[in-house]
Amino acid sequence: MSNLLEIKDLKVEYKTKKGITEAPQTVHAVNGVTLSVEKGEILAIAGESGCGKSTLGKAIMKLVPSSGEIDLDGTNVLKINKREDLKNFYKRVQMIFQNPYSSLSPKMKIGQILSEPLEINTKLPHKEIMAIVEDKINKVGLDKECLNLYPHEFSGGQRQRIAIARSLVLNPEFIIADEPVSALDVSIQAQIINLLKQLKEDFNLTFLFISHDLSVIKYLSDRIAVMYLGEIVELAKTEEIFSDPKHPYTKALLSSVPELNTDKDTNKDKDKIKLGNELPSPENLPSGCKFHTRCPFVMEKCKTDVPKKVDFSESHFCKCFLYE
Ligand code: SF4
Repeated sequence: MSNLLEIKDLKVEYKTKKGITEAPQTVHAVNGVTLSVEKGEILAIAGESGCGKSTLGKAIMKLVPSSGEIDLDGTNVLKINKREDLKNFYKRVQMIFQNPYSSLSPKMKIGQILSEPLEINTKLPHKEIMAIVEDKINKVGLDKECLNLYPHEFSGGQRQRIAIARSLVLNPEFIIADEPVSALDVSIQAQIINLLKQLKEDFNLTFLFISHDLSVIKYLSDRIAVMYLGEIVELAKTEEIFSDPKHPYTKALLSSVPELNTDKDTNKDKDKIKLGNELPSPENLPSGCKFHTRCPFVMEKCKTDVPKKVDFSESHFCKCFLYE
């Protein structure tokens, strides 16, 4: 399979100021991420809140300034700045946000919300635009009567269906879904996850699926990149992450959800790791291996040296001195 997206050494840094008298500090949200997304796959980005997952998604969408390289099938994303080129980019790449309550304008009817991207980005006549809008609202399981209503007239799950329909109206090839079910009731989450799975097949989509929920990730994704303090520390096919996790942080994440570990070889007692300490602040990144302040296997060199990528197979790597 060929790659749709290739990211090299992507960094996102910004300044924050806690008080008027304090000097600004640099937040290192994404620290040299290199990864690729294959056409037609669902690549999950897993990790705790605050690890940089959402910022990575926003950087790909050009919603935050970043450095490094982002290549979308031959297009240098970070160099796009002309209005027309940006329009073409957003036809190809769309994002679904976590909160369907804030991502839909309360003052617009659903029909306006869904037709707006087509009016801005295409020259299609109104009749054709409305035909696309009706088709997409049906594809997410809602009736065209919805188009005359406002967002507050819908439940959370219905709103997320509307947000998904909006992400589809321009026929994108790549969708970044940022925690798309975490704000929904558990009873609704499975419906939305199954809808995304179905839409991926129907529209031949590629997904970057950002989530802290490993049970959702296990069900949905083809591969998983585990992120810690702005770095990818392990990447492998989904079944390999669950059956043979390597990085102590990956093991700790899996240990925190014991009901997930139903595979025969998973969840051996020796592999159970409890995450101690808080996630360090991205303003004060630890030296060496960034996980060393929480790792039960920490060695002296972990505190000063940065572990390199170790390949276990073509599809599985991790960064940890235990394997160098
Ligand atoms: Fe733990 Fe050292 Fe491996 Fe980092 S490099 S995960 S501190 S053993």
